[in-house]
Amino acid sequence: MKKIGIMGGTFNPIHMGHLLLAQWAMDFQKLEEIWFIPTGCSYMKENSDNITALERLQMTGLAVNNNPFMKVLDLEVKREGYTYTYETMEELHNRYPEYHFYFIFGADCLFSIEKWKFPERIFANCSIIAAVRENCDLSLMKNKIEELRAQYQADIVLLPFLQLEISSTMIRERVAMGQSIRYLVPDEVISYIEEKGFYGYESK
Ligand code: ATP
Ligand code: MG
Repeated sequence: MKKIGIMGGTFNPIHMGHLLLAQWAMDFQKLEEIWFIPTGCSYMKENSDNITALERLQMTGLAVNNNPFMKVLDLEVKREGYTYTYETMEELHNRYPEYHFYFIFGADCLFSIEKWKFPERIFANCSIIAAVRENCDLSLMKNKIEELRAQYQADIVLLPFLQLEISSTMIRERVAMGQSIRYLVPDEVISYIEEKGFYGYESK
């Protein structure tokens, strides 16, 4: 069965933390491809800036399209109303029954996923790769995984990952303050941000 990793996120903007996590997951679980799925209208996050879902989709594409093993899907961006992970995983599972999907996220999400909509329908349609940062409490996580396995038959693996203090929030703040985001964000994405004047970018 072909193994596909799914990276969901707002990607506002995509940064090296996302890309490295995808690469690590691919090597760790021997995934054949990683599909990035930018959220449409996420109910978890308010869209406070003027960037559209389509523009986030475009930025994500610029970041990954030079890698033949990575691609961007617009299925959440195109969906009307709020987007939920369970819908996406169900849709992928139905559309590609011959693939096995691995949803990738930070291990801290293990403690909130039961508050997501229909977690049982997420676990029924994919495995989970939870990225562990160095400072995480491993025993706490392993207990949580056991709990989720018992309750939902969830298939979850822990991926040892780097401690990277990069976030989209940090990128937006640096742009707003006129600081460089080189080496934090792919060059193609930086050019796009500058061209569009996102996050308060002002050319000097
Ligand atoms: P924001 O600062 O706006 O919250 P973000 O950098 O957290 O953005 P998201 O699009 O919210 O980016 O994250 C998508 C996925 O990438 C999530 O599963 C998140 O846990 C993971 N992720 C983001 N940054 C890192 C990082 N530096 N290390 C490991 N995982 C990360
Ligand atoms: Mg975040």
